[in-house]
Amino acid sequence: MSTAYPTDGERLWASLMEMARIGATANGGSCRLALTDLDRDGRALLAGWARDAGCTMTTDAIGNLWIRRPGSDDTLPPVVMGSHLDTQPNGGRFDGVLGVLAGMEVLRALDDHGITTRHPLELVVWMNEEGARFSPPMMGSGVWSGAFDAEAVRATVGQDGARLGDELDRQCWNGDTPADHEQTPKAAYFELHIEQGPVLEDTGCPLGVVTGAQGQRWYELTLTGQSAHAGPTPMRLRRDALVGAARIVELVHRIGLEGGEDACSTVGILDVSPHSRNVIPGEVFLTADLRHPDDATLDALDRRLRDEAATVARDAGLELNLREFWHFPATPFDPALVDRVRNSAEGLGIPAMDIVSGAGHDAVYVAKVCPTAMIFVPCEGGISHNEAENITPDDAARGAAVLYEAVRETAI
Ligand SMILES: [Zn+2]
Repeated sequence: MSTAYPTDGERLWASLMEMARIGATANGGSCRLALTDLDRDGRALLAGWARDAGCTMTTDAIGNLWIRRPGSDDTLPPVVMGSHLDTQPNGGRFDGVLGVLAGMEVLRALDDHGITTRHPLELVVWMNEEGARFSPPMMGSGVWSGAFDAEAVRATVGQDGARLGDELDRQCWNGDTPADHEQTPKAAYFELHIEQGPVLEDTGCPLGVVTGAQGQRWYELTLTGQSAHAGPTPMRLRRDALVGAARIVELVHRIGLEGGEDACSTVGILDVSPHSRNVIPGEVFLTADLRHPDDATLDALDRRLRDEAATVARDAGLELNLREFWHFPATPFDPALVDRVRNSAEGLGIPAMDIVSGAGHDAVYVAKVCPTAMIFVPCEGGISHNEAENITPDDAARGAAVLYEAVRETAI
């Protein structure tokens, strides 16, 4: 099937399988934690391919690797493709890797067709996307786009006690190129990624045109009642914090269910104290996570949570402390680039649907400072961050072909 495409699906798949040998795990996954020697080996493999394709390379000051193919007007800002090569400890073979190696396939295919684009092209490998060894995630794209301070990132201590800055120095990933979007402006950024959710597979659609990323609001709630003996305290006199918490769990679930197709809501943590089987819980701590791709709707969900949780607490005779822990605004992608992705899929005869990203990606930071679009391909069972993560060669081939067309159209 991939023979109808401008890109070579078999070559892409062979590259994916070769990369997967670096840090291969017992159950068929990959382990290349950020800034480890295995991460370095993965980059070295890619760098060899890039060199063979006649590209130049630089590493910026925070360890992002930039591979460059000159344009016919090399003074123009580059059109960029990219993603990440680092993985979770028991990660899969495709999360991030697909976007990088499909970008490599685009560069190779342009060579095959003898095409020189007007804009230069760049393929970026972002430093520490996963956030597994050094937290938080998406550090390289976060610094480049100005969301994170480079010195604070360098000072981060990993789970193994290593300091990120020392690891950058050790790997010689502390390059001279500034990790700064203002000093290195780009014309556009495209990222192909596995969906990491079940929607495309469930819909039977092979390609997702990502219109943006969900906004997120995270909360911490503490309900305080009165802890007392489970026997002598009559029901009508109780101030049971867990009963209030149970109603709030139900409320949060309902807010997501009733918030429209794209709303998500989750309670992930519940700490009951004193956590004894014969004591009425006096205090409960819980978290809530609300998500929606539209900020106005997310604001409405926020108001509903605050109003109705207050009512729940009052009715149960409890004190409620509700604190917003984190807020990440919704990120719509660039409409013209999103259209280009959609048209590219149509031109190639690949059925596609609009989809919103529920997970964080480098593209979400990049979109704050540069026109950005993403392409999703299905992953088996929606499973990722797992050795069992899987896609088909046809999925990969379709994603790369759409990436090629969208990039060529933008850079020509
Ligand atoms: Zn990823």
